[in-house]
Amino acid sequence: MNIILLGPPGAGKGTQARILVEERGMVQLSTGDMLREAKTSGTEMGNRVADVMARGELVTDEIVIGLIREKLQTEKANGFIFDGFPRTLPQADALGDLLSEMGQSLDRVIEMQVDDDALVARITARSTCAGCGEVYNDNTKPIPSDGKCTNCGKTEFSRRADDNAESLKIRLMEYYKKTSPLIGYYYAKGALSSVDGLGEISDVQAAIAGHLD
Ligand code: AMP
Repeated sequence: MNIILLGPPGAGKGTQARILVEERGMVQLSTGDMLREAKTSGTEMGNRVADVMARGELVTDEIVIGLIREKLQTEKANGFIFDGFPRTLPQADALGDLLSEMGQSLDRVIEMQVDDDALVARITARSTCAGCGEVYNDNTKPIPSDGKCTNCGKTEFSRRADDNAESLKIRLMEYYKKTSPLIGYYYAKGALSSVDGLGEISDVQAAIAGHLD
């Protein structure tokens, strides 16, 4: 089963993708993670996209489609979760083509709905374990008092460079201008299911499972 988690920054796509990976043995393909990795390892492409990402703008379709194509050709999976991809209509068309070249299809697009005030509050309070990527929130899921990640026990946490109020404004605008048209696109294809992304992690998880099973 191949699915897309679609939603604005801070909707909880990464958190739910990690749960699906654990529970269903699916493979998460996050273009944001791939780009951050390229930036950290200092590849030529990573250096090229660093400023664009820091500002909160989208990198070119060509780059992210290339990243996804490479992963689809090399990873074997019991289904892919596309997290943060596609983000534009050309990316959505390209994904459809890539999957059909592999004799596969897109089974469901889960739209995660969260209101804008909640997104801003979530993102500015978010930190991530440097060891395993577990996501914490200063208000709703604080880092444990012993300073150790509940998932892997590491004690280093970081905040994303683009998780600040200024970049977030641009990321939200990019979402509404370029990504939100995908909601109509997948609705018209009969693939869209929407869930309320504002509740407890386990409630959102159950709502998603209800659409996949
Ligand atoms: P994310 O981790 O999904 O929030 O992505 C972080 C940043 O990476 C975005 O703000 C964009 O600059 C870039 N990015 C990630 N995925 C895409 C994509 N599919 N298309 C264009 N830019 C992307």
